[in-house]
Amino acid sequence: MMTVTVSIGAMAIRNTILTCWCAVLLLIFPVMASAAENTVVRDVRLWTAPDHTRLVFDLSNTMNYKLFRLHNPERIVIDMDKVTLKSDLKKLPLPDPVIKEIRHGTSASKVMRLVIDVKEKVQPRSFLLKPMKGKPHRLVVDLMRPDKVKQSVKSSQPRNSKQDLIIAVDAGHGGEDPGASGPHKVREKNITLAVAKKLAEKINAYPGLKAVLIREGDYFVSLKNRVLAARKMRADLMISIHADAIDVRSVKGASVYTLSERGATPDRAAKALAEKENASDEVGGVVSGQISDPLVNLILGDMLRRSSLNSSQLMAEEVLSRLKNVGPIKYDQPKHARFYVLKAMEIPSVLVELDFISNPQREKKLTNARHQQRLATALFDASVVFFRKMGRLKQAKSEYLQPPYRPMVSMINPTTSNPDS
Ligand SMILES: [Zn+2]
Repeated sequence: MMTVTVSIGAMAIRNTILTCWCAVLLLIFPVMASAAENTVVRDVRLWTAPDHTRLVFDLSNTMNYKLFRLHNPERIVIDMDKVTLKSDLKKLPLPDPVIKEIRHGTSASKVMRLVIDVKEKVQPRSFLLKPMKGKPHRLVVDLMRPDKVKQSVKSSQPRNSKQDLIIAVDAGHGGEDPGASGPHKVREKNITLAVAKKLAEKINAYPGLKAVLIREGDYFVSLKNRVLAARKMRADLMISIHADAIDVRSVKGASVYTLSERGATPDRAAKALAEKENASDEVGGVVSGQISDPLVNLILGDMLRRSSLNSSQLMAEEVLSRLKNVGPIKYDQPKHARFYVLKAMEIPSVLVELDFISNPQREKKLTNARHQQRLATALFDASVVFFRKMGRLKQAKSEYLQPPYRPMVSMINPTTSNPDS
């Protein structure tokens, strides 16, 4: 709509003039200027997921805002009350699949208006987050793509082939939630995705196995939606990939975890780790009040639950025995704790901490592509042996031949059906 564009342009000019005046006033009355209680947008980040784009605004304080849609052309407008933008919108990776560009201007009444020009009709949702885990006040704006939602529902229909065993490969963290960081700023989310992709490639090259990546790029997926994704794809196995961190830099080695039985007392280290991994939703950004212990499966009988836990234990042992040949091991037995991401109790599930990213040598090793390949191979070999021991995978005739190429199955994006990610 022309009028809005013009008014935004006018506001931008006024904004520039105001900025100049403010600079002068700041020189004359520095105390008065700093006492003005404007909220400042200090940083803006953008994450592109297959079914939505997420914008995150770091704020100096909480604020009031209004968000609404305008059509012809499609755009999303956010009016932020008494807000000053001190972050360069030009640094955002635009255009992305959803957003063409973002414009802004400030009105005389100190309302900052952001206009997000979008390429298609999107379903916006937004929420404010309070400071937590080192993150400031944040405004999260998700632009959901209804068309992509439909596609992902379609792809979650029953399997193409009865023979294919499906492995949900879960790269820990992503987007707003970087996970642990190493001394050289290597981020857990990037390591987990690199190893997950290598693992999925190996799985998909093997007859009778199929991998589905729960996260296939740098964006956030809530823990609950990871569990739901594994269920939707009817996974026969779930492998959640992580890297640990601790203050003592010399600590190193891999460890493998399964869900602890109800009522069992996990050891303190395993419990602390589960708490750390379970905090992913708070860091990544889930609607307030919806961070909860997701999906304890009450339908499953004790026998089925026990059988699934036993299978998880078997898989965990297979993984550990292979990781021993790749690098150091922290604990030589699988450990157990209440990891939310392992809560699809009908699916044998393990969580693997590849190593300690907080150890400078191991951090470097984790970024090495050949080492990542060896880690992926260990997880792959363990999966094959696991399915064989379970009597679900026969020795393939073509095993010693070049395996046929199969493309990776596109992600079943879980965030679409759940408005809490
Ligand atoms: Zn992690």
